[in-house]
Amino acid sequence: MLTGKCFCGAVQYSVPDAFTYALNCHCSNCRRTTGSAFKPFAGIVRREFTVTQGADQLLIYGAEKTHDAHCRHCGSLLYSVVRDGAYVHVALGTLMDAPTLRPTAHIFVGSKAPWFTITDKLPQYEGHIP
Ligand SMILES: [Zn+2]
Ligand SMILES: [Zn+2]
Repeated sequence: MLTGKCFCGAVQYSVPDAFTYALNCHCSNCRRTTGSAFKPFAGIVRREFTVTQGADQLLIYGAEKTHDAHCRHCGSLLYSVVRDGAYVHVALGTLMDAPTLRPTAHIFVGSKAPWFTITDKLPQYEGHIP
């Protein structure tokens, strides 16, 4: 199992080290929610993901089946519920442990911040992976 937490520690979660996919997303939404050039995230079916502390401290932005979950105290973006509620995208920066699966590609490079240059050799996609 992997564990993660927000900046202030009020919210903690656990997730099996069994992500289905991991990607770096350069879309403008991910840039704004993280305040970063891109968001490294990893996906897993929602039922595998557990908030172990501070579930009542979450700030949910969006709807039941599609939303971002932040800590309401420190604002950290911890995860997003996506794909009609079926999957969770864990914001990898909040993990305390290193996942076995590392990001395998850059997506939404068509929306990339012009001031950021991708310097690794991972595949790049204009939008979603085809
Ligand atoms: Zn927090
Ligand atoms: Zn994105």
